[in-house]
Amino acid sequence: MSANLATVSYIGATILFILSLGGLSSPVSSRRGNLYGMIGMTVAVLATVFGPRVDLAVGLPWIIGAMVVGASVGLYAARTVQMTQMPELVALMHSLVGLAACLVGFANYIDPSASAGLSEAEKHIHEIEIYIGILIGAITFSGSIIAFGKLSGKIGGNPMLLPGRHWLNLTGLLVVIYFGREFLHVTSVADGMTPLFVMTAIALLFGIHMVMAIGGADMPVVVSMLNSYSGWAAAATGFMLNNDLLIVTGALVGSSGAILSYIMCQAMNRHFISVIAGGFGTTSGATPVAGAQPAGEVVPILSAETAELLRDSKNIIIVPGYGMAVAQAQHTVYEITKHLREKGVNVRFGIHPVAGRMPGHMNVLLAEAKVPYDIVFEMDELNDDFPQTDVAIVIGANDIVNPAAEDDPTSPIAGMPVLQVWKAKTSIVMKRSMASGYAGVDNPLFYKENNRMLFGDAKKMLDEVLVALKS
Ligand code: NDP
Repeated sequence: MSANLATVSYIGATILFILSLGGLSSPVSSRRGNLYGMIGMTVAVLATVFGPRVDLAVGLPWIIGAMVVGASVGLYAARTVQMTQMPELVALMHSLVGLAACLVGFANYIDPSASAGLSEAEKHIHEIEIYIGILIGAITFSGSIIAFGKLSGKIGGNPMLLPGRHWLNLTGLLVVIYFGREFLHVTSVADGMTPLFVMTAIALLFGIHMVMAIGGADMPVVVSMLNSYSGWAAAATGFMLNNDLLIVTGALVGSSGAILSYIMCQAMNRHFISVIAGGFGTTSGATPVAGAQPAGEVVPILSAETAELLRDSKNIIIVPGYGMAVAQAQHTVYEITKHLREKGVNVRFGIHPVAGRMPGHMNVLLAEAKVPYDIVFEMDELNDDFPQTDVAIVIGANDIVNPAAEDDPTSPIAGMPVLQVWKAKTSIVMKRSMASGYAGVDNPLFYKENNRMLFGDAKKMLDEVLVALKS
């Protein structure tokens, strides 16, 4: 393939990636967005492999070998990973981007041909690209591994707050800058390895420290922030390899991840800097933390009574959360919705921006179950409608419907906007026990007079409700 054709293919792939991002902004166009992304990636891979910079005679067996291994792992993961494990998988994928940036950085530094023919100034710029690329890559790699551990429950969700942690970070930054200066002044590749290794070690420790310090309900921001970092790591790799497509694609991922982090922060009424500084949510599990302890008794309800209430309602809002994903209850939710809508009941869904364990988690599940998009609303779109709602059904959600976020300034989640389900005539919470949600905070909603608890696995209970509704 000629250099010109490769360039044209890269521009085509870039346009397809932009169209893909645009498509993913709405559930209606998301399938199309995905398709654009897949075509763009195929074009990009083909243009790179058959482009002028790859010596196919030498490289083809290696490329085919790597693609077979990568594709096999990807196919296996896509088939076996449960929907509830997706956030962990995404975190693990981000770590691979970071690792790739580190390895490319080292390989690029060692490879004499990468800097052959460069002037002194160009060589310095190339070295700065390598240094920064490895730095971002190492932070992304170790941070994503810790995020994977936290999301999968292998590492506790509690923030690890070392004494003087901000000073530790600042010292690390100064050491990295010092060794960066050293790196630019070395005279041989062998001498340059010491500053590179020291910086990599500090960056790895920084990534671990940064994510370990973040806890409770702040993890959504970390997930999107690491997504952004992985984009910048890819862009840095693009600079090192002089690959325009990688630079543009990395910048697209980096900036969209940064915008997502901002949206997440807004949705949780948090400042980005204070999230990164860490310390939100100090315990996890079923034990309540700071704030007034909820009092009173919970009132259980049976599936048949729930069906009765639903049958007598005119307006219903369903609030899904992480538990719906765990129970895989979305298809039964749809069946119930369909049945009620056929009987003339106005059924709508209220989606909190951080419901579940990844951005858009609930939207994906509802789309998979074929719930019509026009009855799925963002939190802000229907939060004022709860007083006119007969029944609000909370399916495996907890933190996102916790009134303590509004009422109790001492609560660890104080200030986070929540879906005000308690303002409906009756709210019904479906969950298996009284355990707290991801943030580890007790929920006063359960003790409200107009609240009922439908205890049990969400799928099992909803199946029973559906049978009762149809009988
Ligand atoms: P929560 O984690 O607050 O609550 C989920 C509830 O589901 C639990 O209390 C659990 O109670 C219940 N549950 C679990 N399994 C089942 C089941 N099989 N059947 C019925 N219920 C079940 O989830 P929310 O969606 O309300 O809130 C999301 C939380 O996750 C927020 O704190 C958010 O910050 C955080 N987070 C979000 C991310 C994102 O990007 N969206 C990323 C990382 C974290 P029980 O055990 O009693 O059944």
